[in-house]
Amino acid sequence: GKVDAECDVLVLGAGPGGYSAAFRAADLGLSVVLVERYATLGGVCLNVGCIPSKALLHTAAVIEEAKAQEAHGITFGEPKIDLDKLRGFKDSVIAKLTGGLAGMAKARKVQVVQGVGEFVDPYHLRVATEQGEQVVRFRHAIIAAGSQSVKLPFLPEDERIVDSTGALKLKSIPQKMLIVGGGIIGLEMGTVYSTLGSRLDVVEMQDGLMQGADRDLVKVWQKINAHRFDHILLNTRTVAAEAREDGIWVSFEGENAPKEPQRYDLVLQAVGRKPNGLLIGADKAGVTVTERGFIEVDSQMRTNVPHIFAIGDVVGQPMLAHKAVHEAHVAAEVAAGEKSHFDARVIPAVAYTDPEVAWVGLTEEDAKRQGVKVTKGLFPWAASGRAIANGRDEGFTKLLFDAEDGRIVGGGIVGTHAGDLIGEIALAIEMGADAVDIGKTIHPHPTLGESMGMAAEAALGHCTDLP
Ligand code: FAD
Repeated sequence: GKVDAECDVLVLGAGPGGYSAAFRAADLGLSVVLVERYATLGGVCLNVGCIPSKALLHTAAVIEEAKAQEAHGITFGEPKIDLDKLRGFKDSVIAKLTGGLAGMAKARKVQVVQGVGEFVDPYHLRVATEQGEQVVRFRHAIIAAGSQSVKLPFLPEDERIVDSTGALKLKSIPQKMLIVGGGIIGLEMGTVYSTLGSRLDVVEMQDGLMQGADRDLVKVWQKINAHRFDHILLNTRTVAAEAREDGIWVSFEGENAPKEPQRYDLVLQAVGRKPNGLLIGADKAGVTVTERGFIEVDSQMRTNVPHIFAIGDVVGQPMLAHKAVHEAHVAAEVAAGEKSHFDARVIPAVAYTDPEVAWVGLTEEDAKRQGVKVTKGLFPWAASGRAIANGRDEGFTKLLFDAEDGRIVGGGIVGTHAGDLIGEIALAIEMGADAVDIGKTIHPHPTLGESMGMAAEAALGHCTDLP
């Protein structure tokens, strides 16, 4: 058949995984075709995920911070919210970043083909572009097709029922909002909407919000955020919804289910994401895809077809941008003949709520479950000069050390900027540091980062005397 383009590496999908793989492969001297169905590069993360949510969360944090100053003698007026302008700011952030990616692709001579791609066989991909069909022949392929929101089948089609992409459009500020699913994405969007004026309910099937994090961290977040919620419905499920003129009426079942259907102006479904593995004709290339749409890979990110790799959300949990990027580099390097493999010990997770909750490596719950004996070092921010000066001393920093060899195995932080701090714990784990290494590292005073040194000192049984 006809072939319109040939390359060393075909990358399918231009999210954090795809663009990182494409750029690394090009930097290693390979010719690269990057196929993306959307007009902009950046995938979920830049267009409808990490970045726009953080732009809105920043604005929300500024509003909260301004309000909090009242207690310190500085009073601002009620915020006047111009949604068009706020949306404009968010869109400008996305445009800056996706535009930057386009420039980087061009500079590296990565050929971007816009259209929906599907494998034809193990060496060809067909792309349905606006100008018609194009066939790309490749020596290696890297599948970075990402994931999409799970849709609850019983929720009707209605513009007042949205997923995270719909919520990020910020069409209006609902009076009463239901978040279905108490995970990070739902709670981040809830933070934005509630700061802009919405009252929240959240419904979660499991017995706690923000699953995956230790409960002591979540408890601090929950106490500070209780005022945002009318109801936190744990061990409860939504089972039906009816779109009426006056709102979406939702029925619940479970431990804390209201008996009558409840009315909402907006319902956000945030019950998880499913991989796009079944939508790309992988079988034509001989690539095995699980029933749920995941593609299995080895530590070199190779699928069962050795010259075809897969990375990012499509290969499994955790579905996080930084994981995708690191896997991308491995795949590109292996395609270029290097002996790389993915050997990260830990992948940090962050809820960019207010306060932030961040954790990495083993949690206390993991340690208990796995029978790993740990020594805990905990530093409450109520003793941190910087946290007190910020008026935000509700947080704490927790480090967990292997009780046998003393090396750090995990950590968690709840407090403002926790996400910016957690990288140090990840580094300490990768380096095999122990409490003495961390405690003897001089952290600048007064900073929130100091809390890491203090927690290590606490684990050693030393007093932590410098606030
Ligand atoms: P994706 O970003 O999903 O990109 C896949 C790309 O492939 C898409 O652009 C898609 O259009 C394209 N594609 C798929 N199939 C085809 C095809 N057949 N033909 C052509 N193109 C195709 N992660 C974090 O680490 N931090 C955060 O703060 C964070 N916040 C988030 C907030 C929200 C609201 C959401 C939804 C997600 C968030 N995530 C966050 C998760 C993060 O966005 C994903 O982990 C990340 O985008 C995965 O990257 P990826 O390259 O695997 O796939």
